[in-house]
Amino acid sequence: MGINGKILIFVDLPGGELDETGRGLLSYGARLAGILDANWGVAVAVAPDSVQLAAFGAYGTPTITCLQDGEKLLDTPALLGKYIAQLAKDELAAVILLPHNDLGSTLAPVVAHEFKAAIMTELISVNRSADGVRLSRKALGVRIAETRTWDFSRPLVATVPTRALSQVLMPTVRSSSPSLAGWRPTAPLSAASATVTCRIPPDPQTVDLSEAEVIFSAGKGCDPKTFSQLKELCKLLNVSFGVTRPVYDLGWSGFERMVGQTGRTVTPRLYVALGISGSMHHVGGIKDSRRIVSINSDSKAPIFPNSDEGFVADLKELLPRLLDQVKARIGGAA
Ligand SMILES: Cc1cc2nc3c(=O)[nH]c(=O)nc-3n(C[C@H](O)[C@H](O)[C@H](O)COP(=O)(O)OP(=O)(O)OC[C@H]3O[C@@H](n4cnc5c(N)ncnc54)[C@H](O)[C@@H]3O)c2cc1C
Repeated sequence: MGINGKILIFVDLPGGELDETGRGLLSYGARLAGILDANWGVAVAVAPDSVQLAAFGAYGTPTITCLQDGEKLLDTPALLGKYIAQLAKDELAAVILLPHNDLGSTLAPVVAHEFKAAIMTELISVNRSADGVRLSRKALGVRIAETRTWDFSRPLVATVPTRALSQVLMPTVRSSSPSLAGWRPTAPLSAASATVTCRIPPDPQTVDLSEAEVIFSAGKGCDPKTFSQLKELCKLLNVSFGVTRPVYDLGWSGFERMVGQTGRTVTPRLYVALGISGSMHHVGGIKDSRRIVSINSDSKAPIFPNSDEGFVADLKELLPRLLDQVKARIGGAA
């Protein structure tokens, strides 16, 4: 039993560029195609002459289909969803892959409805099994792990959380010269009833930490001065702010900012631990972060073996210099 059709990946190109999410999705799609032993291709909502072929080719992309008038469709996701579903029908796709960002999560139910497909949002892992394919996701932030079986009887629409996407090129991927084609539906598709007039991205200062992309966390190694410098740095860099239990116990932050076993479990792209020793109660809540960088004055702090990168430094010296450099780069206070 096998998948009966190709994998179609919809790649959003903010500002016309293949960004980190797009690269991660290509990498994920190429890997998925290997697991499912299927062909794959990409759909984009830009004109063919603005596609950066080399960037797609680096990920081994075989084909790129450009939806006609795609840029206009981006403001009417319900109509864009219909276009993607129709293209999937025309290209005999069995899987449509979308990023689980604002656009992708809006498109997914529309595409699934139009394509009469099963839907799996926030897909993390995919494994072959005797009865089909096991699809796993984490729901409710990351508190629930759920596994479902997809038996191929219907096509599948899947979204992948951006935090699970890695733009790292797999050594097995060979670069390609993608073929490029324009596409439009043969019969006009009806206009959407609703148009998006504005999109407001989440504010890193208030977003639930379990959803945060980048977190800088303060430990007991911060004193009141370095703590407020760190908060200022977070605002300037527009990243989220977390704390350890002792810092929460001092009353310096609300419970919703506490990271760890009794606090939030977090899975950001980047977790920066400042003045944090690395107790198991804290590390247990950050271990699924994509990259952990730690700064501690004690070179033997247990956080270091749990980090991708570690710096031995005194926050009292480091933070003022870091703040000055960031201010100089971005031109002033937040
Ligand atoms: C049941 C239970 C549940 C818990 N749940 C949680 C939880 O959810 N989250 C959590 O965080 N903790 C939790 N804890 C507490 C946990 O065990 C640790 O006590 C806590 O994580 C330690 O926090 P810390 O790293 O900020 O402080 P410390 O362990 O005191 O570490 C401070 C670090 O700062 C460094 N430092 C000091 N001065 C400087 C400086 N000037 N510059 C740079 N570095 C400096 C020190 O070298 C040290 O490594 C829990 C404990 C229990 C018993």
